Amino acid sequence: MFPVERMRRHRLNSNIRSIFKETNINKDKLIMPVFIDENEKSKKEIKSMPGIYRYSLNDYENYIKYLDDIGVKNVILFGIPKNKDSTGSSSYDKNGIVQNAIRIAKDNTKMNIIADLCLCEYTDTGHCGIIENGYVNNDKTLEIYQKEALSYADAGVDIIAPSGMMDGQVKAIREILDKNNYINTIIMAYSSKFASNLYGPFREAADSTPQFGDRKSYQMDYSNGREAIREIDLDIKEGADIIMVKPALFYLDLIHEAKRLYNLPVATYMVSGEYTMIKNSVLSGLLNENIIDEALTSLFRAGADMVINYFTEDYIKNHK
Ligand SMILES: [Zn+2]
Repeated sequence: MFPVERMRRHRLNSNIRSIFKETNINKDKLIMPVFIDENEKSKKEIKSMPGIYRYSLNDYENYIKYLDDIGVKNVILFGIPKNKDSTGSSSYDKNGIVQNAIRIAKDNTKMNIIADLCLCEYTDTGHCGIIENGYVNNDKTLEIYQKEALSYADAGVDIIAPSGMMDGQVKAIREILDKNNYINTIIMAYSSKFASNLYGPFREAADSTPQFGDRKSYQMDYSNGREAIREIDLDIKEGADIIMVKPALFYLDLIHEAKRLYNLPVATYMVSGEYTMIKNSVLSGLLNENIIDEALTSLFRAGADMVINYFTEDYIKNHK
């Protein structure tokens, strides 16, 4: 106790502070989301997400090489297809937008290529599964997820990230991958994904707004922490390699808890609304841009092993 313990000793100057620094942002653990749009001829800025674009397949090729050149190690791909239908059939087209994007990335870069796996971009309802009588049919949706997973693996993806919150999705995908000898394809499970108000800008980005109702019958209630742990637990039993908490900043308690309870890598996704809040505050001059560093640090400090976030490109560019 004072005067023996003087905590301010550790903060005397920047050299001293850096040796006492407990958490560093690991650039190799940042994952950049990339949107590829089959309907576009060139890249287009997403209005609600300043600095983030939807790419045509041509522009995407240049962009992905650029990300690789500046030192980005990981990307997660989201596709916007030309055709939507009731079963989301273009999600498993072997020449679909994501399948082509995977091949281009694998042929031209050395990055880890992650592909988000869901149906909301591909169904005409904008829901993450097949609708029957106004309700998403879980088990029929799993059959489509399996086809989608297999087509991603055929295209050469490194990591498949199922985000639809269907029960049994990790098991179904692991089974189809193993059956087809894709034993090294990794599953990053969106284990506890909340029905959050922070997804608004993404829906503009990915053109995936539900045409009726909401996603509360499959995504989690943000009031529920214990249920989040049950979801994570089930995904581990089903064969997940990586578990995830999404969104990130409002859910630090769960990132921390997942890290404490399990020995698997914990990912978190700092989503579009989190990006928009921070980015717009910085652009308007209300907040200093060091807020980005503070936000990312808080996620690693809470226990995240990897962070999907839209700041990845700029962060890596600015921290050579
Ligand atoms: Zn979805």
